[in-house]
Amino acid sequence: MAQQAERQVFDLVVVGGGPGGYPAAIRAAQLGLRTALVEKERPGGVCLNWGCIPTKAMLRSAEVLETTRHGADYGVLADNVRLDYPAVLARKDRVVKSLTDGVAGLLAASGVTVVAGHARLAGPLAVEVVGVGDPPLGPGGPRYNAPPAPGGAPVTRLEGRNLLLATGSTPALLPVPGIDLPGVVTSDGAFLLEEVPRRIVIVGASAVGAEWATMFQAFGSEVTMVELLPRLLPAEDEDIGKALARSFARRGIKVETGRTVTGIAPAGDQAPPLLVTVADPDGSNQRQVETDVVLVGVGRRPNTAGLDLERAGVATDRRGWVEVDDRLRTGVPGVHAVGDLTGRVLLAHVASHQGLVAAGVMAGHDERMDYRAVPAATFTHPEVASVGLTEAAAREAGHDLAVGRFPFSALGRAQTFGQVEGLVKVVAERDGRVLGVHVIGPGASDLIPEGVLAMQLGATLADIAATIHAHPTLGEGTMEAALVALGLPVHLPPAGRPAVDSRERARAEPAQDRPAEGPRAPRFDLTVRVDATRLLGFQADLNRQLGTGVEVGLTDLVVKACAGLLAASPALNASFGGDRLLVGRRVDVGVAVAADGGTLVPLVRDADRKSIARIAAETAELAGRARAGRLGPEEAGGAFTVSSLGVDQFSATLGPSEGAVLAVGAARPEPRALDGRVEVRQVLRLTLSIDHRVVDGATGGRFLGRLKAALEQPLGIVA
Ligand SMILES: Cc1cc2nc3c(=O)[nH]c(=O)nc-3n(C[C@H](O)[C@H](O)[C@H](O)COP(=O)(O)OP(=O)(O)OC[C@H]3O[C@@H](n4cnc5c(N)ncnc54)[C@H](O)[C@@H]3O)c2cc1C
Repeated sequence: MAQQAERQVFDLVVVGGGPGGYPAAIRAAQLGLRTALVEKERPGGVCLNWGCIPTKAMLRSAEVLETTRHGADYGVLADNVRLDYPAVLARKDRVVKSLTDGVAGLLAASGVTVVAGHARLAGPLAVEVVGVGDPPLGPGGPRYNAPPAPGGAPVTRLEGRNLLLATGSTPALLPVPGIDLPGVVTSDGAFLLEEVPRRIVIVGASAVGAEWATMFQAFGSEVTMVELLPRLLPAEDEDIGKALARSFARRGIKVETGRTVTGIAPAGDQAPPLLVTVADPDGSNQRQVETDVVLVGVGRRPNTAGLDLERAGVATDRRGWVEVDDRLRTGVPGVHAVGDLTGRVLLAHVASHQGLVAAGVMAGHDERMDYRAVPAATFTHPEVASVGLTEAAAREAGHDLAVGRFPFSALGRAQTFGQVEGLVKVVAERDGRVLGVHVIGPGASDLIPEGVLAMQLGATLADIAATIHAHPTLGEGTMEAALVALGLPVHLPPAGRPAVDSRERARAEPAQDRPAEGPRAPRFDLTVRVDATRLLGFQADLNRQLGTGVEVGLTDLVVKACAGLLAASPALNASFGGDRLLVGRRVDVGVAVAADGGTLVPLVRDADRKSIARIAAETAELAGRARAGRLGPEEAGGAFTVSSLGVDQFSATLGPSEGAVLAVGAARPEPRALDGRVEVRQVLRLTLSIDHRVVDGATGGRFLGRLKAALEQPLGIVA
């Protein structure tokens, strides 16, 4: 049959028109190679059709929805804000079409011959093109992994002096019972859901899973994520994964790390809904989660089915990825491979870079791949981006490190955006050479090129610090982090030294001895009323489950919630010392204790890193010693205090080391109208007294608003 097919000869035949194949074809044509490209779907590959672009288009809709919902924070009032999911999908389709049409136009304009169909190898440097079979997920679903049409005779035979394989990858599935039930999808199937699922379990917390979690949570789904490794985005720096976990918890995304899914079953006679069994990696500690959709995002495998690699003698590793050297050459002369298919770094920009290098190599240039400065971006809210070594990897590799962290909350541009979550972290060799840059926060993906360029050029911390950055921009965060690593911070206390000399702050002083506040310490009070009914139920549940030993009080829950918020946006973890603003580098929360001599404020150190049970135990122990007069001077004197003295409706006095004191009133029953009924709810009054030199009213108000939200959804506090 092959003899009947039309035969065409080229300098280069590219199989696959994704981010690996199409830039290679364009570059090869620019370099004078007569080039053909075979593609069985629209050009652009997974990235443009079923990956990077459609997810980012939908994430943008999620972001617009969130921003509109919080319009009041910006002084913009919008009523009746709601989601039109079909319109989200239609916009996504328009964006995809515009870009895939664009790629088709570029290929044509570059003189690349595009052949539609499924390519299979017919020898080392020959390809047969046949028809494309049914898409695995049905009409309208992806065709990039569709089989060849059954019994299809070749339409065309393409021969080349060079062959470039760029067929990409396809989702891997979990080998567990129930994986083929209706309602269990991969990222491909998720695009085909016609409505937002009420509940979704996402298996796998790397970039793909985390982005879908962000999106569906914003669209209103109840999201549970299950990840085998100990944290979200396991490939990222530990600080980044933890910061994202805190942010996800605040948004109400439930995350189970160090856990796996061992089975999926119909919850009733029909699926969905589904019952997902979540367990520890050894199968113990099982619990079942009912859901409407399960999204499996546990990795990819090479897209080689029906490619007949063996007919060209192309070798793969034991997992099926095509093996290449640093010039993208397989073991077969003239045959190259790029992109996901090589299993090296499964990212679109890596595929494209490989494609350009491979085209150069095939045109006779001396080019090689260098993977030392490869950025990665995850478009969660907040965004994550990184390049180079994590702090842990750098330490493991034996580097003597200088590390600088700079929180977005201390950056003017982030404040103007109203997005102060996150930080920039620079990891460098002690001599200043930049080894890695890690960002979580607004615009992270657009900030990372500075780190990439720094690494590419072998730049140092001093180079970054000496580069003039426009103001006010998010990019200043990278400069500030470099300054912190150099020990020369301008907008933070010096790295390696506590915000304040602890001896200076460590005075457990009775309230009546505190200096009266004068005009140099302007303060203001903000009050909020919290519906504490759930919180009290949660506290009772917690105490039941913890058993005897420790009694978790309402104050402990408030301390934990405040610690989480202070870690994310440290603006209120600060006080005014002399003529300087002293921002705490650790989250130490003071807890006011009524003692004989007056009020004492022992500190729960690193409260953001401690469990509620541990906070409760420590608070009880510290209070006991405070009352007995056995509190050490270094055990008091924090910037943020929680004061819960059993009295309702009071505002506290600010001590010299304090920037803010939160007074927690007593919970009182109050009738409230809910869904047309009157219900008695337990209402708690919180009053935040703030030194006006530390933060402004808007920042204080936002903090209090977030605290109210956290206390009214208390599950997020424990995460
Ligand atoms: C949900 C999701 C989100 C993602 N987001 C990002 C992101 O934000 N940033 C990022 O860098 N990466 C992202 N990726 C990864 C990115 O999509 C891939 O790394 C990239 O598409 C790989 O490019 P490629 O050219 O190697 O393969 P592909 O993009 O998979 O392209 C391969 C092409 O080959 C064609 N093909 C396959 N076999 C044949 C055959 N036998 N005959 C003819 N044609 C064939 C296919 O139709 C396809 O068009 C994401 C992936 C997913 C799934």
